[in-house]
Amino acid sequence: MPATVKIVAVSKTNPVSAIMEAYSAGQRMFGENRVHELLQKKDLLPADIEWHMIGHLQTNKVKLVVPVAAMIQSVDSFRLLKTINAEASKINRTVNCLLQFFIADEETKYGFSMNEAEEMLDSDEFRAMQSVRICGVMGMATFIEDAEQIKREFRHLAECYKRLKSNYYAEEESFREISMGMSGDYEIAIGEGSTMVRIGSLIFGSRNK
Ligand SMILES: *Cc1c(COP(=O)(O)O)cnc(C)c1O
Repeated sequence: MPATVKIVAVSKTNPVSAIMEAYSAGQRMFGENRVHELLQKKDLLPADIEWHMIGHLQTNKVKLVVPVAAMIQSVDSFRLLKTINAEASKINRTVNCLLQFFIADEETKYGFSMNEAEEMLDSDEFRAMQSVRICGVMGMATFIEDAEQIKREFRHLAECYKRLKSNYYAEEESFREISMGMSGDYEIAIGEGSTMVRIGSLIFGSRNK
């Protein structure tokens, strides 16, 4: 187990007052899954908060989120990454990104397969990108009770990370994150090598009371 696992407090649907409470307790990394909600909250909260975009991002909203996100964890297509790169370059910014992998046994979750990711990383178009920094991978396990299945899915994501690390990013210190684990499965994720867990309901209480 790594010495430190970072916690992104997933504040979606929770009010600014709840975020402020966590902030006062020392929390600085917060995650939102909707661009407009992130922008509204950001304006009302301290400037040293690191905002992580963790939800599926439509390309037409990229230009809104690029100036404010410390990290976009939900990069789930080459097309989206190209748009992020283009918008970031317009404002002279380098945006930290995670590649979201599809690891679940569900039809609703977005993300790359290993083949798609390698095809992208091998392309000249990808190599020419100057305004995105790939910092690692992100994934969501199937929403299921079966701990063995969840474990297999997280193990698969950790293997994808290791393969990309050794084939593309061996020299790059900044490629180091495996963002996996939520309120219901973070212990399994940490056991499989998570460096960053995204915790919502365990911090803020259930969203659907
Ligand atoms: C909502 C959400 C979380 C946090 O979920 P909890 O079960 O409340 O901890 C983590 N990651 C993503 C991508 C989410 O959308």
